[in-house]
Amino acid sequence: MLPGGVNSPVRAFKAVGGTPRFIARAKGAHVWDEDGRRYLDYVGAWGPMLLGHAHPAAVDAIARQAALGTAFGAPTALEVEMAERIHALVPSIEMVRMVNSGTEATMSAVRLARAATGRPRVLKFEGCYHGHGDSFLVKAGSGAATFGTPDSPGVTAATARDTLTARFNDSGSVRELFAEYPDEIAAVIVEPVVGNMGVVAPARGFLQDLRELCAADRALLIFDEVMTGFRVAPGGAQQRYHVTPDLTTLGKIVGGGLPVGAYGGRRDLMSQVSPSGPVYQAGTMSGNPLAMASGLAMLDAIAADVDLYDRLESLGASLEAGIRDALARSGETCHVARVGSMWTLFFTPQAVTDWTTAATADRARYGRFFHAMLSRGVSLAPSQLEANFVSGAHTASDIAETVAAVAESLEVSR
Ligand SMILES: *Cc1c(COP(=O)(O)O)cnc(C)c1O
Repeated sequence: MLPGGVNSPVRAFKAVGGTPRFIARAKGAHVWDEDGRRYLDYVGAWGPMLLGHAHPAAVDAIARQAALGTAFGAPTALEVEMAERIHALVPSIEMVRMVNSGTEATMSAVRLARAATGRPRVLKFEGCYHGHGDSFLVKAGSGAATFGTPDSPGVTAATARDTLTARFNDSGSVRELFAEYPDEIAAVIVEPVVGNMGVVAPARGFLQDLRELCAADRALLIFDEVMTGFRVAPGGAQQRYHVTPDLTTLGKIVGGGLPVGAYGGRRDLMSQVSPSGPVYQAGTMSGNPLAMASGLAMLDAIAADVDLYDRLESLGASLEAGIRDALARSGETCHVARVGSMWTLFFTPQAVTDWTTAATADRARYGRFFHAMLSRGVSLAPSQLEANFVSGAHTASDIAETVAAVAESLEVSR
């Protein structure tokens, strides 16, 4: 009844083989499948579950709001509160528009960038994923990369032509495109820490270079923080790396587990969005009260958990150390990438810094490793080219259990 049995491609296990587990429920750091088996979960719903599944604050807020009505199609106080909360955490977002997914956020941000600059082209990076909007399905990461269809059928040549691609961590490749297309590039859009070709951290100075190159050409810089927002720091990657974009896109954590996205940034730009300005963008369910209640509960719970980011860092660091130790004992050289609570074990001896090096990873080996972990009750992202997430609900003993499973799985998956 469903294409591939799923409603989003990577869930189908095509990249690792076998049959996806159908999930019945989840709590904290664990999920249970329809056959009653329990897994320690590092998928985290692909990012939103920063505090673990079914966090009591989010569950309560959703239940309370549901009793008051689930959609009004009219403004609510909740949306104003959400905007204020986002601005407090991410000060570069002076004004924000709520939408229903990360895809909607990036598509809308690019429309605004084109309108504000009067320029047609968008520059993205090989292996970065910005949702499934037509302009982004060119050398995209996540499911699109896994399936080797960087240009999806159905995307016209005209649309693809307006998308330029550079190499992540290579500001020279960006400089060349600016030289080749002066006054034509509306925006550079980037995952400031890439999650969608597996985790790839920005090299020192790379994000600063993008900021300067954009300023010099009067192009806009868009940080796609759908994954990194509220994850790599309370204020996202722009806080962690001290680089301020013109526009930011959010999703995942900002909905607290309900479907939400957002785009925002400089007031002079966001004022051009309809109905303040001429750039049309709308949504029947945008700013939905249930989703706002859930997202606000999440952002409040994050603020209340004062040592959350220190805990995520130390859990992440001990997991990384344990994996490195297991690799050393099994005599294997693999690349372990981690930024805070985001991590990927790449089955390649090469340092992974961009799409070309990410693509050297042995995906068949990852598939065997993935299934060895799953059979030991640990659920990882079902593709080599994805991020795994530690949550605030994981404990030191969960990490120890994971490291033991990694040591065994490395052996049996050779
Ligand atoms: C997940 C993701 C998106 C797409 O968000 P959806 O809610 O799946 O549409 C866009 N950009 C990045 C960086 C993402 O990780």
